[in-house]
Amino acid sequence: MNLVERDLNVIWHPYTQMQTAKPPIPIVRGEGALLFDEHGKSYIDAVSSWWVSIHGHANQYIAKKVAEQLKVLEHVIFAGFTHPTAVELAERLLQIIPDNQAKVFYSDNGSTAVEIAIKMCLQYWSNKGHKRGKMLAFKNAYHGDTFGAMAVSGRSAFTEAFDNLLFDVEFIDLPNAENIDELKSHISHLQSDLACFIFEPLLQGSGGMLMYEAKYLDELIAHCRAEQVFTIADEVMTGFGRTGERFACDHLQQQPDVMCFSKGLTGGTMALGITTCTQQIYDAFLSDDKHKTLFHGHSFTANPVACSAALASMDLFMQPETMANIKRIVASHVAFGKKIKDHPKVKDVRQTGIIIAIEWETGAGTSYFSTLRDKLYQYFLDAGIILRPLGNVLYILPPYCISNEQLGYIYGKIEEALNTF
Ligand SMILES: *Cc1c(COP(=O)(O)O)cnc(C)c1O
Repeated sequence: MNLVERDLNVIWHPYTQMQTAKPPIPIVRGEGALLFDEHGKSYIDAVSSWWVSIHGHANQYIAKKVAEQLKVLEHVIFAGFTHPTAVELAERLLQIIPDNQAKVFYSDNGSTAVEIAIKMCLQYWSNKGHKRGKMLAFKNAYHGDTFGAMAVSGRSAFTEAFDNLLFDVEFIDLPNAENIDELKSHISHLQSDLACFIFEPLLQGSGGMLMYEAKYLDELIAHCRAEQVFTIADEVMTGFGRTGERFACDHLQQQPDVMCFSKGLTGGTMALGITTCTQQIYDAFLSDDKHKTLFHGHSFTANPVACSAALASMDLFMQPETMANIKRIVASHVAFGKKIKDHPKVKDVRQTGIIIAIEWETGAGTSYFSTLRDKLYQYFLDAGIILRPLGNVLYILPPYCISNEQLGYIYGKIEEALNTF
């Protein structure tokens, strides 16, 4: 049996209708922006392997640091114990995120980082003896696949089977010049029930690369602060350079109370999640009463190997070349966007930082299940490019090491596809 046959015998893949999906592509090696299958065919990883790989694959510096850490300490329980890489990573992360963030809570993926953020805000109010159990989120949001994270995500095909079990969340539209005042008065109206407002800053990823302006998010955050509603910036996808700055919050004047990180945190090397919060939130859990403790922890909380990957990734991220690469990709996308925006098949082209999204004119409305999606996906795979359209929204979200030649090749194939489908 070959690898694919053995896979199909024993494995159930994520977000995959196993009856109709094509067999998985067996990848045996990665290098920079490229992945290689077992026959030696190369693919440009234009989606950073589900948005995690920021420095490209099999980065030798990260590999070296991880290998060193593995020989020294692979894991230690994180309740009652600590270790150098967790402390150093927390110190260094706090230096580069908004300066109101005071404490770092570790977990092991983006969904758990969100669960912890929600629990921090809900239990803050419970510890203070207030009844504030409702949450505010954007329509079309995506915050993860565990129950709490799913509850604050927009209702969709992903959540349908569980809708009656998801807790009480108020969904609002993305803010713009027309609706901002209405949104603010809505928040004021709900205020005494609201524990927190969670959002993906500037850009809703899984929702279809939907983008909105920093100034209106600033207004919402300021308004929430005035109404004592905590704000949670889910930077799981936007963090570490994706928006053209280090963090999406760097585009804002206001600072959120809680932040979530994962995906690019370890450069896409290992699973790790971080939730940070303000001193005010942390302080509400300090008590002689044990009931006020944040009772949350995962077996692999602050795994030293994952923390060492994150530290190595941060070393690379802080090098001037990385930001230069980010700016290079941003400029390159801008030029490509201008070139194709008037193509009859382009309904919309939009960009935030290194992410460019092209919405295909389909006649019908956007659908995650559109057949166009499958055709485009296969077309690019055949051309040696991994692009996974969200319905009729095609996007490029590359690792920063992608070359101009590789970008040019992707753009060329997209133009070909625009003329084909
Ligand atoms: C991917 C994602 C998550 C969930 O992270 P996982 O590590 O896949 O659980 C949460 N929030 C946002 C904005 C994401 O893009």
